Amino acid sequence: MKFELTILGCGGAIPTLERKPTSQYLNIQDRHFLIDCGEGTQIQLRKFKCKFSKIDHIFISHLHGDHFLGIFGYLSSLNLLGRNNDIHIYAPENLNNLLEVHNSVSGKNFNFNIVFHPLNFSKLKRIYNDKIMEVFSFPVKHSVPTCGFLFKEKSTDRRMIKEKIKELDLNIESIKKFKNSENCEVNGVLIDYNDVTTQGNQPRTYAYCADSQYDENIISYLENVDLIYHESTFLESKMDKAIKTKHSTAKQAATIALKANAKQLIIGHFSARYDNSDQFLEEAKVVFNQTITAYDGYTHQIKIEN
Ligand SMILES: [Zn+2]
Repeated sequence: MKFELTILGCGGAIPTLERKPTSQYLNIQDRHFLIDCGEGTQIQLRKFKCKFSKIDHIFISHLHGDHFLGIFGYLSSLNLLGRNNDIHIYAPENLNNLLEVHNSVSGKNFNFNIVFHPLNFSKLKRIYNDKIMEVFSFPVKHSVPTCGFLFKEKSTDRRMIKEKIKELDLNIESIKKFKNSENCEVNGVLIDYNDVTTQGNQPRTYAYCADSQYDENIISYLENVDLIYHESTFLESKMDKAIKTKHSTAKQAATIALKANAKQLIIGHFSARYDNSDQFLEEAKVVFNQTITAYDGYTHQIKIEN
């Protein structure tokens, strides 16, 4: 029941030796997702032992180079490795055009099919859905059309208390009903599901807020989320720069996490002007104590809470 995030790159627009451009790998119960794909992502996937070939869904927040230029190399490598099953890309429409240009100038098509899902930049939208989880895109404010992504597990069925199955000699039909929060008659007696079951797993959630200026409009999408990744390109002392480039400061990222009542915040996308992230952590923790600074290769598990 894994829910594990790996930061592949946490640098700002210009990469440094320590921080590669933005990319993240997310494993939710054996579903493998890539979030953004900056230059060198395929190397980072290998370096941090992620399931390179198992990724079926790629989410690209916006078309600044540090968030997507790695996709051409990554897809080309998948092709050389013989991939032939579909890959889904959720991204601004123009990326599809760029991929077509890439294929036409390189004179070859990939052996696999790209299923392209253009993003909507005006409202919250469910873009992925299966039986255990779903993904939503939501608009954020940046200098080009940009979306964040919210990954959400679905509620699970209630759990049977084993002794009750024996004690009441329950059949499969009644067990199904109890797990589904329904009362059920057993041997002429109506049994309350609360008496024979316990709560199912609490659904876990992760919100990737992409590149964004401070924007309280996103808080409604993030309420009570387990984990937020919010960019923190600058410190408060460079607020003028943050406003001009439509990025955020560490304090602003922390304020979003606080107002959203998040459990944990990871900050990243640090500008190349800063050698280390100590001051970012200091600044953010004044507002939101549960803050962690990202580094390339950092892995974060969200555990199941009962
Ligand atoms: Zn950007």
